Amino acid sequence: MKKTLLTAIVMVLAGASVPVLGGAQGTGTTQVTPPAQGQAQGQGRRGGPPPTPEQIAENERRARLRGEYSRYRANNDLLYYHLDVRIDPATKLVTGKNTIRFRMLGDDTRIQLDLYANLNVDRIVQGTTELKYSRDANTVYVDFPSTLKSGSVQSIDFFYSGTPTQTGRFGGFVFGKDPAGRDWIYTACEGEGAAIWWPNKDQWRDEVENMDLSVSIPSALTDASNGRFVRKTDLGDGFTRWDWKINYPINNYNVSVNIAAYQHWQEKVGDVTMDFYVLPEDVERAKPQYAQAKGMMETFEHFFGEYPFVKDGYKLIHVPYTGMEHQSAVTYGNGFQNGYGGGNRDWTGVGISLKFDFIVVHESGHEWFGNAVSAADASDMWIQEGWCTYLEGLYVERMYGLADAIKYLNGYKPKIQNQMPIVRERGLHRTPSGNDQYFKAALMLNTLRSVVNDDRKWMKLLRDTYDTFKYKNSMTEDIVAFFNKQTGMNLAPIFYQYLRHTAIPVLELEFDAAAGTVRYRWKVDEASFTMPVRVGSENAWQTITPTTEWQTMKTTQSKESFMAETSRYFVNVNKSEG
Ligand SMILES: [Zn+2]
Repeated sequence: MKKTLLTAIVMVLAGASVPVLGGAQGTGTTQVTPPAQGQAQGQGRRGGPPPTPEQIAENERRARLRGEYSRYRANNDLLYYHLDVRIDPATKLVTGKNTIRFRMLGDDTRIQLDLYANLNVDRIVQGTTELKYSRDANTVYVDFPSTLKSGSVQSIDFFYSGTPTQTGRFGGFVFGKDPAGRDWIYTACEGEGAAIWWPNKDQWRDEVENMDLSVSIPSALTDASNGRFVRKTDLGDGFTRWDWKINYPINNYNVSVNIAAYQHWQEKVGDVTMDFYVLPEDVERAKPQYAQAKGMMETFEHFFGEYPFVKDGYKLIHVPYTGMEHQSAVTYGNGFQNGYGGGNRDWTGVGISLKFDFIVVHESGHEWFGNAVSAADASDMWIQEGWCTYLEGLYVERMYGLADAIKYLNGYKPKIQNQMPIVRERGLHRTPSGNDQYFKAALMLNTLRSVVNDDRKWMKLLRDTYDTFKYKNSMTEDIVAFFNKQTGMNLAPIFYQYLRHTAIPVLELEFDAAAGTVRYRWKVDEASFTMPVRVGSENAWQTITPTTEWQTMKTTQSKESFMAETSRYFVNVNKSEG
């Protein structure tokens, strides 16, 4: 464990709203001001000398400071933020305050908040009382002059200022320019954390119940943020304040500003307002592509019911990086082309990806799994990414049929690495390494569908899972327990084989041609693993239920012709002669 940890820490915090592409990563003609790499505090620098043991230890300490649900986080429950910021591209300064309201869950005198070390804490006040604080890396401990009683509701104003860091795969916080030289300012900080640009309780377990967001920017520009647009106010000094109301719980990293010379139009699907933002030069290119969002909305509403953030509406907002699931303000940078990665790239290589725009479908799918249903710890991030990848499959199934969906999901197989378990140590903020949390987890769900072996039950199970976990932050164990309860089966060993180990199940088959038999068992890491699987031949599958112990069945088939239905069960098959 120790060794894998060391290598992992340096590659951690890139952020991962979308899987990493192999090869070119351009997103079309509007890709400008690519983010600088590796500037964030306390993180490994790509391409530089390898980190020293001291740096590695410090990185781990910081990942824990950030990822652990420590005493000073667990002693309170977030209720509300009002983030009120002025963003000035001329000085590259962000100035403002976050009003943080929380309920104490125990008696205490201190809470833990987060703000990157390069940003100034101007002052922290409660009413008229200035509060003491101390800083440790990107953490800010706030101390109160007397004990805050359990159950009491507290409110503080955290004033700050500075120039946020541009870093990581999507930029963190970027003061950029569009191709015409106008300001294009945006945030995308899932890996780095929201504290890269504003003070908050920066962890995954606890979310505010709702939030106000006020963004003051030069009056010629438009801000597209999360939530429902309330009003804009001319401040009389060349700046205009845009007020947004977020009516639902929201992950910190989803809170975003997208500031540009946007043009904007609105459409509707049922009761859901759909607002589209794009640079003026790209409106004509964007319109047919953005139209796919309506089919996306109808499709996911078919499977999971009403869009989770109806009061806030849905937005699709043009940005210069690939895309991100910012809640009710999905950002898009896929070059107004189908596939993923620009240039009409069939990135799964099985002839399906070019039928739709990956970023529209994947990032918007996160509204259901990722934003409504959310993981409580970064180690459980497959709940967002594996499920959302499976939703791509559901989209294909609804649009083009089940056969295409199975083909599409199996198209992900070559991208699976099986080198590191998907779910690892908790309380250590770190994006699960590689893409297995996307593709392997999606193929695990595809496998579980075959185990449930009843499509009506399966679709109901998906819907019930969504309904049960929406607006909550959950752990892998919660999902597994729910699946067990709903199906009456013990699916835990199957989940954990895929999530907690590197190897996928191997179906061992040992043929005895003379006796006309085949012995079979699973080779797995999970004790008490048992899983049915369809074997035989294409048009005459029969279901067997191997365990980890040998069983024997009759077969008239040869070793060569005997198969397992590996498109529906993500397993390897190992054949031998006894
Ligand atoms: Zn994603």
